[in-house]
Amino acid sequence: MKNDHPTLSVVAPVYNEEAILPELYRRLREVLDGAGLTWELVLINDGSRDRSPQIMRELHARDPRVKVVDFARNFGHQIAITAGADYATGDAVVIIDADLQDPPETILDLVAKWREGYEVVYAVRAERKGETWFKEFTAKAFYRLIYRITDINIPMDTGDFRLMDRKVVDALKQMREHHRFMRGLSVWVGFRQTGVKYVRAERYAGETKYPLKKMVKFALDGITSFSYLPLQLAMYLGFIAAGLSVLGIIAAIILRLSGSHAFYGQASTLVSVLFLGGVQLICLGIIGEYLGRIYDEVKNRPLYIVRETLGFDR
Ligand code: UDP
Ligand code: MG
Repeated sequence: MKNDHPTLSVVAPVYNEEAILPELYRRLREVLDGAGLTWELVLINDGSRDRSPQIMRELHARDPRVKVVDFARNFGHQIAITAGADYATGDAVVIIDADLQDPPETILDLVAKWREGYEVVYAVRAERKGETWFKEFTAKAFYRLIYRITDINIPMDTGDFRLMDRKVVDALKQMREHHRFMRGLSVWVGFRQTGVKYVRAERYAGETKYPLKKMVKFALDGITSFSYLPLQLAMYLGFIAAGLSVLGIIAAIILRLSGSHAFYGQASTLVSVLFLGGVQLICLGIIGEYLGRIYDEVKNRPLYIVRETLGFDR
């Protein structure tokens, strides 16, 4: 290892952010130079189709502290930050969204806690600006759900915006699972962890790169990565259905003996068959979600393919 590595690596995943990159670089440089830190900015181009790659190239030419990992295609946000952590050389690594929703100034608060001896310092969203009520509501509900059903305590209202000590990053590098929920993994490793509150800003420019479909997949990755509860749901539902049917049998016998005409006809049969059929299909689907993920792990393909890198001397 060369010993001219920087104190801080800032990792930003980039997917079609041409309108933001120059401002991201400007804000980060202002904050980090102002604090007298040595730093590098690791930009991951996650298969952008706009001018982002050219702008990254220009930034690197202007300031060699800006380094670039260029993916061969879009591999997704979580994989992009994984690559960033793989390539980063700093004593601490900060993961930040490229869209400036995570204010660069907050990095100084993260670093201050790191200097106190904490090895993971995550940023907690005290407030979110400029999000739709739908995103805000679903995010809140999701963080509360995952907090309750998983064995690890993923802190509420945190994203991937966090600082990780070199030791933590090296531990993360050993975990090569494909469906990655980084904010969970960085808790799973342990170490001394703490949070710092911040106000999540509005997107500086452009649109969110997380449409509903990606959000649902991301939520499922988070849940399946850390919980078996959905798989156990089938068993619980089975016990409930079996218990109810015993009551139903007893009720049917009593009614029949007392000469009642309830339960005659096909409607009740049809309803219960359809209901149970639906429940069974849902349970199969849940198993499918896990099975597909197991298949992806077994294939063991690389997490990402890199076209080229700029600024890394290896
Ligand atoms: N991003 C990425 N690959 C993707 C989608 C998003 O690298 O497939 C990046 C994006 O450029 C941004 C960060 O991930 O830097 C967070 O995305 P975004 O701001 O769109 O998500 P939101 O804040 O709306 O949840
Ligand atoms: Mg954003």
